[in-house]
Amino acid sequence: MEDHGYAYSVLEKLSFNRVAGTEDEKKAAQLLLSEIEQAGGKGELMEFPIPASTVTQEGMRIVSPYAREVETIGYGRSGSLPEGGKTLKFYYAERGVAEDYVGMDDLSDTAVMVNSISYEAYRLLCEKHAAAFIVMRGFHYDTLETANAYRKNLGDEKIRLGRIPGFMISAKDATEMVRDGVETVHLTLVQNEFEATSRNVLAVIPGTEYPEESIALTAHYDSVPVGKGAHDNASGAAALMHIYRHFLQNPPKRTLRFIWCGAEEGGLFGSQAYIERNKALMPQIRLCFNFDMCGTTLGENHISVTGGEALKHFTEQFCREVGRSSVVRARVQSSDSAVFADHGVPAIAISRYADSADYHVHSDVLFPLGAEQLYRDAEFAVRYIERVANSVVLPLDKTIPDDLKKELEKYFDRDKIKNNG
Ligand SMILES: [Zn+2]
Repeated sequence: MEDHGYAYSVLEKLSFNRVAGTEDEKKAAQLLLSEIEQAGGKGELMEFPIPASTVTQEGMRIVSPYAREVETIGYGRSGSLPEGGKTLKFYYAERGVAEDYVGMDDLSDTAVMVNSISYEAYRLLCEKHAAAFIVMRGFHYDTLETANAYRKNLGDEKIRLGRIPGFMISAKDATEMVRDGVETVHLTLVQNEFEATSRNVLAVIPGTEYPEESIALTAHYDSVPVGKGAHDNASGAAALMHIYRHFLQNPPKRTLRFIWCGAEEGGLFGSQAYIERNKALMPQIRLCFNFDMCGTTLGENHISVTGGEALKHFTEQFCREVGRSSVVRARVQSSDSAVFADHGVPAIAISRYADSADYHVHSDVLFPLGAEQLYRDAEFAVRYIERVANSVVLPLDKTIPDDLKKELEKYFDRDKIKNNG
């Protein structure tokens, strides 16, 4: 009775670059809305603002001991250097911890390169008034293109500490610069910030017996700026549409709230906006079911349980019952479900990964995904949700264990923010 090719047909339609805040993301939202309508349901778009920036000038030139241009991508929302750029000392601080800056308290004339820009590394750079930061992308043989580098925005938690203009360069250039003893570089970065608009696509299937109790079903449909985002996460968005169609025909006892989230990449803005606008609903939402990446022909199934033992046991038992091999772990999944868990809603996050199918890369295209596997993943979710939504007593408590609460604090960088006042 179920159409095995339906989810894949949605996936095919959605397989184009869908960066948050762009016309492409809007087009994807409208596509999802029309699928809801074609199924005979009713959906709506929920718009929300997201921080954005346009970089108008960027670049790096080695000044001494020799001269050459270096390809860069500037960080969005990291501020601008004075018009015309600035010549700065170049210093490689490796991990960017205190030991990497012995005797260096004032870095206001220095561009500091670190291996990665963690919250802690950024905080130290702010403390020392660094003029710019540089990070490298990829392996030693990579260019920015082969490293799949793309513009990222500096996160709010770092911006709260101050703005330091940031740059990405290839690991190949970074290797050469340190090896050749580069002393000074000329950096340019000019950008302006504005608010862009993203949107969630919403649909509700009211429960037939316990309509006041609900389950939130989430999958983000935006993508990063490289690749077609077929695996991440057109696959999950398409699977969610399969689930929606099923329950529209077979209404469950509890209410299902479908949320195709916009702007997940780079900030989980869609789920945050949803919760912000639906505070009154939150006590009714008993569980969040999130789909982020599925449908790869090769691969293995993972389920992250951000909830108590009862939910984890139920999930493991259910996987045995239906014969689905899954790695089930109590953990925080880096996706929209984390935001729900952070607001006290236990979450189940389903993913299917393959070592042979990377994501956030140019090669996130349709090829590694298959119609039959996508159908299997979506049908597993249908059966799982059916069991939960129709059970007389829910197989879970609405609690988040303390260790997972700690993991959430860490995930949202609040543990460090607290420690540093
Ligand atoms: Zn994703």
